[in-house]
Amino acid sequence: MNQVENKWIPIMEPSLDGNELKYISNAVKTGWISSQGKYVDEFEAALKEFNNALYALAVSNGTVALHLALVSLGIRKGDEVILPDLTFAASINAILYSGATPVIVDVDSATYNINPKKIKKAISKYTKAIMPVHLYGNPCAMKELISIADKYGLLLIEDSAEAIGSIYGGEKLGSLSDVGTFSFYGNKTITTGEGGALLFKDKEVYQKAKVLRDHGMNPSKRYWHDFVGYNYRITNLQAAVGLAQMERIDDILNRKQFIAEYYQNELSSIEGVNFQVTQSEGSNSYWLVSLTIDRSNRSASELMDFLRKNNVDSRPFFYPLSEMPVYQNYCIQNELIVSKMLSKNGISLPSHIGLKDKHLEFICSKLKEYFNEK
Ligand SMILES: *Cc1c(COP(=O)(O)O)cnc(C)c1O
Repeated sequence: MNQVENKWIPIMEPSLDGNELKYISNAVKTGWISSQGKYVDEFEAALKEFNNALYALAVSNGTVALHLALVSLGIRKGDEVILPDLTFAASINAILYSGATPVIVDVDSATYNINPKKIKKAISKYTKAIMPVHLYGNPCAMKELISIADKYGLLLIEDSAEAIGSIYGGEKLGSLSDVGTFSFYGNKTITTGEGGALLFKDKEVYQKAKVLRDHGMNPSKRYWHDFVGYNYRITNLQAAVGLAQMERIDDILNRKQFIAEYYQNELSSIEGVNFQVTQSEGSNSYWLVSLTIDRSNRSASELMDFLRKNNVDSRPFFYPLSEMPVYQNYCIQNELIVSKMLSKNGISLPSHIGLKDKHLEFICSKLKEYFNEK
């Protein structure tokens, strides 16, 4: 066994070797450890600039970013919000927190993202918004989604939790809709430990979200509350890490691009291996390099076991929301077929920038072994 084989290769791990420690030490030394302090403003400015957005707001995590997006856009009980069946539960939970009713729609088998052709049937007179999710970093069909939203007068909220740095039609994901959100959880493309952010097009919506983030307190009249708000603030400590991550985001994205291309070059000719497809207007930032297995004598779960035995981590796709009893009331029955197929056959490969070329070589050799020599 060589050196690579003896050591566990995780699917994701944070890369914190820039100014993270320096900035966080500075926050501690100066006493600015709560949600006031310069790093919050600087982190928001960096997000705004990188995404070419008009307004950016940092919050405590990606789930509250989604909730804040919904409530600051005025979505509430009685409204319906359309979302894809294949996503992390936070997307649908945030809709439920707002009081609105989620309506689950099937996804596309190539991109894994919400299928615009399936949306029309899900629109009712109560529909207020569509929440596309850019799964694993892969851009949704934004042109189609924007045209549906325009035609039916609907709001668009991009759940870009997994997609910072991805591009569609020359613009960064999260900046193409009314509000876009990010997550900076420890395994995401950039991290603040726990954290999230929102991008806005409309100044009033941004200002409303900013007030709601801070208990609904009137910004010019202390302890006077205009709304029932929330405490969704990010700390200066988290923002210190976030700012350092933003300084390195281009390097992080470049390396992730290299990793994705490496896997694709090595493995896409294997019979029954289908990588997630990026549409022509898009560029995937590859939070997780993902593929499905379509071969009668091979399976995703068996492959994951095989990789684990070889010290290589991987992960299954999300369960379709429609399969979980808690969300079953929100499905248009019998129409959620592609999400089930993807969920059963999908696997994501190690995709973090700590992977050296020798790790990529090793992982690919193990995948080839599984598919060809079993
Ligand atoms: C990670 C994630 C979230 C939630 O982010 P947290 O920061 O963990 O709250 C929401 N949606 C999607 C698609 C995610 O992957």
